[in-house]
Amino acid sequence: MKLFSRRDFSATMGKGITATALLGGTSLACANSTKQDKKKLGIALVGLGSYSTYQLAPSLQDTEHCYLAGIVTGTPEKEKVWQDKYDIPSKNIYNYENFDTIAKNDAIDIVYVVLPNSMHADFSIRAAGAGKHVICEKPMAISVEECDAIIKACKEAGVKLSVGYRMQSDPYTKEVKKYVAEKTFGDVHFVSSDAGYISRGNPNQWRLNKKLSGGGALMNMGVYSIQTSIYGCGSNPSSVSAQEFSTRPEYFKETDETITAQFEFPTGAVAHMMTSHNANGNRLKSHCSKGWFELEPAHSYGPISGRTSNGNVISFPHKRQQALQMDDFAKHILLGTPNVAPGEMGKRDMIIVEAIYRSIAEGGKKQMLDLGNMGIVP
Ligand code: NAD
Repeated sequence: MKLFSRRDFSATMGKGITATALLGGTSLACANSTKQDKKKLGIALVGLGSYSTYQLAPSLQDTEHCYLAGIVTGTPEKEKVWQDKYDIPSKNIYNYENFDTIAKNDAIDIVYVVLPNSMHADFSIRAAGAGKHVICEKPMAISVEECDAIIKACKEAGVKLSVGYRMQSDPYTKEVKKYVAEKTFGDVHFVSSDAGYISRGNPNQWRLNKKLSGGGALMNMGVYSIQTSIYGCGSNPSSVSAQEFSTRPEYFKETDETITAQFEFPTGAVAHMMTSHNANGNRLKSHCSKGWFELEPAHSYGPISGRTSNGNVISFPHKRQQALQMDDFAKHILLGTPNVAPGEMGKRDMIIVEAIYRSIAEGGKKQMLDLGNMGIVP
């Protein structure tokens, strides 16, 4: 087990975790302990929509270092359903109005914000203000300015921050990152990345409402094609040019339907990405000097599937990405392991999103990107 520095130890103690719990002792009977083992961090999900219901809560049954401790919901009818299903104590159930009193609840270590995109910044900042570590769903926010505000609030509160980039914890992603770093197929010259699906649902859903979503396909699936372009190449891009296409303006009244973009990288590589709410796409392919590697599907919930030019199939046992992701963040807090999806990564992607929208507004003009000093490992 990794030894704690005094700083890690004090910071974690500040979050109400007992020394004996951290050090694997048996005396877990602190005033706030629940029947859960306090070696695990308690997570409260904020927003009990489809992602929390069908992915995060079930994944929290598979995690080793964290567990579902609480919920925050604006829908009173959901409280009892979730309480009964997941055995959540009444004292760990909040609504959007009394949410800030979560500060007093030592059973909650991490607040996971799973609300419409325009609400991420407000709730992440309030969670930090309550002294809780924060996981903020993707896209991190709807502007770079909001990302900065979240990062600042977490720094000032001395809490850790992560973005819900589940693919960063996925073994297939790690494998392609390894190919790039070790030049298994030589230098990457060209990356192609698609992330989209056909949306025909409720025209009043928040994803089609610009005020709530901040944008369409690009804000939703586009962050995946930005991410795959970057890790499929192993570098942050130095420029982007983009185009927008619309075929169903009566449905996509306020938000983008399909966007394509081209990146240049300082390595000399280029990438093409496509994201859409009107076309299916779920693929990463990196063409290299001595071959290629490909993931398809590349960013759905799994199992992911991959192939390489030497005839190999990339294959790992399937595990819920969300369980791996939440455990990665819990280990970062408990043991000081790397934060695989820090706030700065969410901010980097929002800088790229804003540059893509700017390029479209300027008729496809190339936008230069200055991402060199962000300290983000692609
Ligand atoms: P959803 O529509 O199913 O749920 C949204 C939740 O927010 C609901 O519980 C709803 O009651 C609540 N809400 C509060 N105020 C609202 C308002 N003004 N309008 C609409 N809903 C409101 O959405 P979802 O699919 O669960 O997505 C939530 C967040 O999770 C989004 O940011 C999305 O991008 C992200 N997400 C991430 C992944 C991933 O793979 N990482 C997958 C799906 C969703």
